[in-house]
Amino acid sequence: MQKSWSFWERLYYPQQSDLIVVGGGFCGLSLAYHYQKQNPTKRVFLVERDVLAEGASSKNAGFACYGTVGEYLSDVNLMGAEAALQLIERRIQGLNFLKALVGESQMDWQQLGGTELFFQDQKEDWQAAIDQLEYLNKAFADSVQKPLFQVDTRLTLRGLLGAIHSPLEAQLNPVKALLQLRKRALEAGVRILNGIEIKSLIAKSGAWVLESNQGSWQAPQVIFATNAFGVPGYKLDLKPARNQVLVTQPFAHGLKPGNYHAREGYIYFRTIGERLLIGGARHLDLEGETTSQMGLTRPIQAYLQQFLSEDLGFADQWKVNSQWSGIIAIGSSKEPLMQALEPGLWYCGRFGGMGVALSTQFAAESVKDLE
Ligand SMILES: Cc1cc2nc3c(=O)[nH]c(=O)nc-3n(C[C@H](O)[C@H](O)[C@H](O)COP(=O)(O)OP(=O)(O)OC[C@H]3O[C@@H](n4cnc5c(N)ncnc54)[C@H](O)[C@@H]3O)c2cc1C
Repeated sequence: MQKSWSFWERLYYPQQSDLIVVGGGFCGLSLAYHYQKQNPTKRVFLVERDVLAEGASSKNAGFACYGTVGEYLSDVNLMGAEAALQLIERRIQGLNFLKALVGESQMDWQQLGGTELFFQDQKEDWQAAIDQLEYLNKAFADSVQKPLFQVDTRLTLRGLLGAIHSPLEAQLNPVKALLQLRKRALEAGVRILNGIEIKSLIAKSGAWVLESNQGSWQAPQVIFATNAFGVPGYKLDLKPARNQVLVTQPFAHGLKPGNYHAREGYIYFRTIGERLLIGGARHLDLEGETTSQMGLTRPIQAYLQQFLSEDLGFADQWKVNSQWSGIIAIGSSKEPLMQALEPGLWYCGRFGGMGVALSTQFAAESVKDLE
């Protein structure tokens, strides 16, 4: 339904701004905040189609992570050793940036560490991972105080071959982080409206006119921070990848508090106090999960449940509390994307499964490209 605007509403949310940011996830809020801070006299307007956000930022697992050894090895094959190391470095810097911006306690930041698990059928992967440990720890010896990765011999899961602990990894509450970013943006002067979905755009007399479900909005500069949902009418190097998640009721899981990664990062789980959150398994149906539609599917949820019951050995001790999905954006490269599409029109995003670490710092760097 089209809203009928009062004088006061129009006064505060005029149809013309200096910059419009589309998308109210971590990336859009950070872009709007940083641009407004640097340009206090400009009018910055952010629109988000959902009541909160409807992509990844409020749906994610809350891992403040920088990659595992297994992931590093797979990235070496993809992009070479130097670029793979740089990716880890960038994520560590990004996490420090997020902590400084939001504050640890405001987003329930807990540095509980992360552990990558290797099972009995992964002998080669395990050997390759431990062969890399010394090299990786040396590479980061100057920038971090503790060794980045350590063999963990304390875990005793059935079928476990070995485990590598990452002491710097942390966990957080993503909705609290999102709301803090929103607070920062509002305090800086950004005007934010939810429930506005941009359907199309055209260039007119030096400005971009955005048509939405609530009328039109215009600005000489527009940036879409819309994750895999892209920019209407433009083809970008983006693919949606759905991720399904499950959270249990509290039970005596006995796991050391923290984050866990398995099967080359395709399975991830973490403690939330006495609960467990488990997600991923996208590799079981890569084609089916290449979608921007939210939804749960039986094979993936069944696999996550089987992983809890059989691989982790919790049998029928646990019950489902909630299940949901979210969408990440991937592309031909693992690098985030800031792309000028036309004069005054940009896309910013594509953080894969690492947006917690990458999005706020990348957004801060990307606003420098705007006028
Ligand atoms: C299940 C799941 C688990 C994850 N776990 C982790 C993790 O543990 N650690 C980690 O680092 N990363 C994780 N990620 C990835 C991380 O959440 C994302 O990389 C990050 O949130 C992306 O932020 P964003 O702002 O780019 O996108 P989003 O949060 O998706 O924001 C984009 C926003 O744009 C809005 N939008 C889209 N189109 C329009 C339009 N036309 N008009 C108006 N608004 C529009 C959407 O509603 C959405 O709110 C996970 C992702 C998922 C889905």
